[in-house]
Amino acid sequence: QWIYLDGQYVTKENAKVSVFDHGFLYGDGIFEGIRIYNGNIFKCKEHLDRLYDSAKSIMLDIPLSYDEMREAMAETIRRNEMRNGYIRLVVSRGYGNLGIDPLRCEKASVVIIVEELSIYPEEAYLKGLRTISVSQRRNIPDALNPKIKSLNYLNNVLVKIQSNHAGAGEAIMLNSQGYVTEGSSDNIFIVKNGVLITPPCYLGALEGITRNAIIELADKIGLPFKEQPFTLHDVYVADEVFFTGTAAEVIAAYEVDGRTIGDGVAGPITLKLLEEFRQIVDKDGYK
Ligand code: PLP
Repeated sequence: QWIYLDGQYVTKENAKVSVFDHGFLYGDGIFEGIRIYNGNIFKCKEHLDRLYDSAKSIMLDIPLSYDEMREAMAETIRRNEMRNGYIRLVVSRGYGNLGIDPLRCEKASVVIIVEELSIYPEEAYLKGLRTISVSQRRNIPDALNPKIKSLNYLNNVLVKIQSNHAGAGEAIMLNSQGYVTEGSSDNIFIVKNGVLITPPCYLGALEGITRNAIIELADKIGLPFKEQPFTLHDVYVADEVFFTGTAAEVIAAYEVDGRTIGDGVAGPITLKLLEEFRQIVDKDGYK
């Protein structure tokens, strides 16, 4: 496995970052998770836009131009001969002395890891996941803006721990006002009376690229769609509930906090959107 590390291609054993890296010390950095379908980087522009926007927002200078970054990803894919997999792109503040001040770091560090993806088995897409809501609250923008895909994922890790502890497949996070925001690392949608609904991101959700692709697909197939705040009650009584994300694609929840959703399997609209999504994945890319 070849890993891009600050301009070099190194083996997994040699892919090491200093303990003085501010990404390690303070979570000072950003990342992207990107899918490779058939050798193509899916939604490459959208992911790079989000990365460079996150960087600008936290005043992080990425030492590669947009095109250089795209080329570095493509070269990492080529060196790993990867046709289908996952890219983890990390940009940290870089090496510096102790102390949170980013001025201590001269140059941001860029890492690109390309890996096989372990995803849910196909049965899970047909059945869906058993899910719970969790007590962790998602930051709303008065803390860290949810549009920044930062290396501070402890909140999400705690969500995962709680979800694992309950034996659930995914979890639903609320914000401090009780509105549903997203899953541990996925966006959430519900379907009620034939209308597709997702929470606005300002409530505390990442503006997911899969989320946006699903909204476009809903428009394409003539499915009514609204971005609207909703609560757990609306989730419990929804006809369908599903999550979207780069790794998960589109996956249903068949149960939430012990309430069966719809018929207790992935609903027809969820499956239709998954099918449409799988039809576009090969096309929209960069080799
Ligand atoms: N929400 C969070 C917190 C995430 O970390 C992710 C993906 O990593 C998503 C949502 C889904 O976003 P995307 O579709 O861009 O993968």
